[in-house]
Amino acid sequence: MCVGFTAHQLNIQLTTTNPPSPKKNTPQTKQKHPFFPLQTTYIPYFFLSLSPSMRLPFRSILCNHCCNINKTPTTTTTTTATVQMNYFYSSFTTTGNRHHHRRRSMMREKVLVIMGPTGSGKSRLSVDIASRFPAEIINSDKIQLYKGLDITTNKIPQEQRLGVPHHLLGCVDSSTQSELTPPHYRLLASSLISSIRSRNKLPLLVGGSNSLIHALLSGSGPGLNLRYRCCFLWIDVSPPVLNAYLLKRVDEMLDSGMLDELAKFYNSGEVNKIERDTGLRKAIGVPEFETYFTMGGDDQVLYEKSVRMIKENTCQLAKIQMEKIQRLKDGGWGLHRLDGTESFRAVLEGSKSWSNIWETQVVEPSMKIVKRFLEE
Ligand code: ATP
Repeated sequence: MCVGFTAHQLNIQLTTTNPPSPKKNTPQTKQKHPFFPLQTTYIPYFFLSLSPSMRLPFRSILCNHCCNINKTPTTTTTTTATVQMNYFYSSFTTTGNRHHHRRRSMMREKVLVIMGPTGSGKSRLSVDIASRFPAEIINSDKIQLYKGLDITTNKIPQEQRLGVPHHLLGCVDSSTQSELTPPHYRLLASSLISSIRSRNKLPLLVGGSNSLIHALLSGSGPGLNLRYRCCFLWIDVSPPVLNAYLLKRVDEMLDSGMLDELAKFYNSGEVNKIERDTGLRKAIGVPEFETYFTMGGDDQVLYEKSVRMIKENTCQLAKIQMEKIQRLKDGGWGLHRLDGTESFRAVLEGSKSWSNIWETQVVEPSMKIVKRFLEE
C-alpha cells in the first residue's frame, strides 16, 4: 500500500481516467490550469472521482481553494459532475488564486533522483543513502508500479528495504485497474514528495522510466525547467560488464523462483485478467514465457528459448535506458556520474570485496554529493 493513499483511494483514482469525448466538453473543461501544466482533461475528471476528503492529500499540488471543493449537489450524477467540474475551474481563475499558485511554485522542494539502467544497483544505493539520511523512496520504474510478479519485476525485497519507506511500489493492480499514465503518476508522486518533505525527510526518486521522471519533474515553459530542486545521481556501469551481470542476474532470478511465479501467473488465469501488452503483461519474462506455458510448461527447448529471449531483452532494455540517460546528460541535466563498474566486475568474479568497492566508489561519493546538495 502506498503511504498517504489507501488502496481504495488509489483504485478510484485509477479507474476514472477516461474523460468523455471532447465534443461533450463545455468550453470551460478545455481551459488549462495556469500553474499545473497537465493535459487539461486529466484534472477535472480525476478530481471528480474523489470525495472532498480524498482530495486533501493533493493539497500540496493544488491551492487550498482548489482542494476545498466540498459542495455536494443533490442532482443527478451527470449534473453533479458538471457542477463540480465548473466549480473546480472557476476556483483558480481569480487573480488571488493565481497569486497563491505562483507563490507555492516558487518554493521548490529538494528531490534526489537516482538513475541508471536496469541492474545497476539503484535500489541498493537508494537504501544505502536512506540509511544515512532521513529519506523515503518513491519508485519511478513503470513496471514496478504494478502489484505482483515481484521476482520477475525485480522489486526490492522487504528485508533489503531496511525499514526505509518505499512508495508507489506494487500499488497498482493491473487486473482491475487501467495503466497508470504519466500525468497520474505526476499527481501521486508530487503529493508524496510534499508529504515526505513535511516529515523533514528527503524524497528519493528511484527508477528507470524516463517518461515518469519527465512527467514528474518537468515544469512549464521552454528549456530545462524543473519543478523541484533536483540532484541527479547516475550509476554508470560499463556495458560489457553490465551485460555479463544481467545474464547472471536472470539465472539467479530463475533460481530464486521466477519460473514458479510465472507458472502461477499463467496457470491461475491471472494473465488473462490483464489486457495484452499492458501493465504487468509487459514485464520482461511474461511475453517471453507465453508459448512455453501455453504449450504445457514442460518443453525444455521452449524453456531455453524463453530464457534466451529474456536475457536478450534485458540487455536491450539496459542499452535503451543508458542511451536515454546519455540524452538527458547531453541535454544539460546535471547528472553526477558514479562508476559502479569495478564493483560489478568483482561480483562477476565472485569476489567478496565487491561491497567494499561499492561503498568506496559509489556510496561514499554519493554521500558527499548529497550532503552538498542538502547544505545548498
Ligand atoms: P520510458 O518510460 O523511459 O519512456 P518505456 O515506456 O519504454 O520508456 P521503461 O520503463 O524503459 O519504459 O520499460 C520498457 C520496457 O522494459 C517495459 O515495457 C517492460 O517490458 C520492460 N521493463 C521495464 N522495467 C521492468 C522491470 N522492472 N521488470 C521487468 N520488465 C521491465
